Amino acid sequence: MFSIPELRFSQKYPFSVAAKNVIAQSDFTLENVPESVLNRAKAMVHAAFTDQEYRPNIQTSPELLKNEILAFPASKILVSIIGRYELYRKFSELFSNSIFRNLEEEKDGVLIDLASELNLRFSLSDSQDFFVELNLIDYLRPNLEETFMKLVNRELKMGKVFLTRNDFARLISIVVGQGIRDSLPVPLKGIPNFFKSAAESIETEFSQSVRKKFSKTDFGKVSPESFPPCMSKLYSDLVQGVNVNHSGRFAIATFLASVGMEAGKITDVFRNAPNFNESTTRYQVERIAGVKGKGYSSPSCDKMRSYNLCVSNCPVSHPIIFYSKEISKTNSKINSEENFNSAETNA
Ligand code: SF4
Repeated sequence: MFSIPELRFSQKYPFSVAAKNVIAQSDFTLENVPESVLNRAKAMVHAAFTDQEYRPNIQTSPELLKNEILAFPASKILVSIIGRYELYRKFSELFSNSIFRNLEEEKDGVLIDLASELNLRFSLSDSQDFFVELNLIDYLRPNLEETFMKLVNRELKMGKVFLTRNDFARLISIVVGQGIRDSLPVPLKGIPNFFKSAAESIETEFSQSVRKKFSKTDFGKVSPESFPPCMSKLYSDLVQGVNVNHSGRFAIATFLASVGMEAGKITDVFRNAPNFNESTTRYQVERIAGVKGKGYSSPSCDKMRSYNLCVSNCPVSHPIIFYSKEISKTNSKINSEENFNSAETNA
């Protein structure tokens, strides 16, 4: 029997030994997952997909708290079934950020206990300016992408890195996030079908929201010089008559439709392709663009990678985001040039 504070702790830190004990002592099996647990798991995955914050539901009932704790392994199963690299990253970041926020409000002992559970070697610092002195090897363990965590910005002495309490909390949350990321995908053998249906419904909902966000967006005149590298390559290959495979043709057609190119112009892009057939191409393009039928959304970077069509490592999750950012940059440059010119004229 676990006390409410123990359950609350496990809810906030679902990776912890305490949370694993709660799961081990529950009668949780994959076949008998209650609907309430599955719903919480879906909410976690949905929050990750849509870049929302995950705030554990504050509960006072032990049963509801247990549901929240059990929802974490269930959500990892859902994420693994969906199987998108981008979602693995978002899911681990969701928990990393949530853990950091919780750690900020905890007593020092909680940070110390959790860091020890994670096998981080440290000692409390004698310096008033720092909280701990951490073994350099352990500091280099996680992927410290944030500039403020970079070693060059740290106080370093005799193989120890000096960290404030806040930075120590950040480090713990990054190590946890990486642990979650490394644990994905979980093995899926023998997973009941209702998990698959739940994962499908989340993915469909997400795809629809992406489609809504990225389809028929008004970017103004289509600007090929702002295309991401993958689409630039497909576009120039097609225009030059290089044979582009089916996935590539689908990707560029959906992309061009999403950035506002008319179906007739998209058909023209395919004109030099080997075996070009005007009426077949026009029919397919109109279906893709939604002139006929429901239309299709442009593939994400994850999908592009799975098609072997990604040719760079842009800091975006979707080619349309790349395009949208480039267009914004160009527009603000034009605006500032116009303002400069009118200021000169008025001078
Ligand atoms: S990272 Fe994304 S936008 Fe960049 S080339 Fe790859 S698929 Fe295209």
